[in-house]
Amino acid sequence: MKKPIFVIVGAGQAGATAAAELRQNGFEGRIVLIGDEPHAPYERPPLSKDVLLQPESTRCQLFADGFYDEQDIEIKLGTPVSAIDPDARTVVLSSGETLSFDKLLLATGAQVRRLPLLDQLGGDVYTLRTLDDARKLQSVLQPERRIVLVGGGVIGLELASSAVDLGAHVTVIEQAPMAMGRCSPRILTEFLCDVHRKRGVVLHLGTPLAQAVRENGEIVVTLQDGTRVVGDAVIYGIGVDPDTRLASAAGLNVDGGILIDEDCATSHPGIYAAGDAARQWDAANRQYHRRETWENAKNQAITAARAMMEVEPTKTDVPWFWTDQCGANIQFAGDMLAEEWIVRGQMDESRFMLFGLNAGELVGAITVNQGRDMRSARMLIAKRARFAPDVWQDPQNSLRSLVNVA
Ligand code: ADP
Repeated sequence: MKKPIFVIVGAGQAGATAAAELRQNGFEGRIVLIGDEPHAPYERPPLSKDVLLQPESTRCQLFADGFYDEQDIEIKLGTPVSAIDPDARTVVLSSGETLSFDKLLLATGAQVRRLPLLDQLGGDVYTLRTLDDARKLQSVLQPERRIVLVGGGVIGLELASSAVDLGAHVTVIEQAPMAMGRCSPRILTEFLCDVHRKRGVVLHLGTPLAQAVRENGEIVVTLQDGTRVVGDAVIYGIGVDPDTRLASAAGLNVDGGILIDEDCATSHPGIYAAGDAARQWDAANRQYHRRETWENAKNQAITAARAMMEVEPTKTDVPWFWTDQCGANIQFAGDMLAEEWIVRGQMDESRFMLFGLNAGELVGAITVNQGRDMRSARMLIAKRARFAPDVWQDPQNSLRSLVNVA
């Protein structure tokens, strides 16, 4: 019997994890993993941190050299896919080659949102999404250089932290009234902004850009309130958009991401999607979510691979992500839009937890330099635990013991 062919478009974390998961589950057919970047699949979290801070010793490759050969995964790098024909079950590569598939996984990721006002400056303007982008930044983030960071999201603040560690002078310009507003409650971002300011970062919040020009070899950015910020280089991180171009052109349902069900299946039989490109149905809350996290890419890759093989899905946990900034490890789980946040521990010692409650029920949690409590916190969120505020606040109550009585 002819062996089935599974094609994976996108050789990032989701695509490569799915390929590995297929073999892990005993898939014996052909696996073709196709990526447009020239590099073997790598993880993105280190790009804004260790790749800049310890370029010599940091490796962000997902799997060791030799893994793809050992696992009999055909990997085609530097090879963009130009079209998919869902009915003929073929993908066309930019080289003109056509590949047939029995099942297809789209793990096309996301693209940096562009800011024409800054792009028109030409040189000395950077963004960060890929390993090549990070390598360019290694020579930009130098002692005493004046770096203007536009966008105070996760990338902006992580870069601010690394740039200060490398001796640069940093100004962050964020148009919204609070930093990291997409994924963090106000209490935490205010804490973080204070930490950044104490390290010398100048933060302009709630101040959209009005103009950017090059004057005498410097970049001069003017804000709508008239403030002028002068720098040697600008890096912007104003978010990403899911890369849905192939899916849209192929007629799959797309709406702010490739729409997938709980098994990562798209609107077309035999075609799945996972990672930053996908927007997944959450049956419990009756809504779609697109999550740009390392953990989501991993979980959806595993779910998609299992669904492609028609084996039982694994149970997924409460959503989780982390950031490392200014020497602090901050982990987030569950819903960051909780109505009320309770603090446990000392914020001024940078060692605390935040519990997010909706109508008294635990829906979200954040640990700051206290990652060992995260597992229990996720279990408590899964149980929608309810305790009196003083129970949450008291560090004497071990979270593990609370899990047992919740
Ligand atoms: P990323 O993960 O790329 O950092 P986020 O969505 O976490 O993306 O953060 C992007 C940040 O950029 C948000 O805080 C958003 O308010 C901010 N932003 C978007 N457009 C602009 C702009 N034109 N100028 C300044 N900040 C912007």
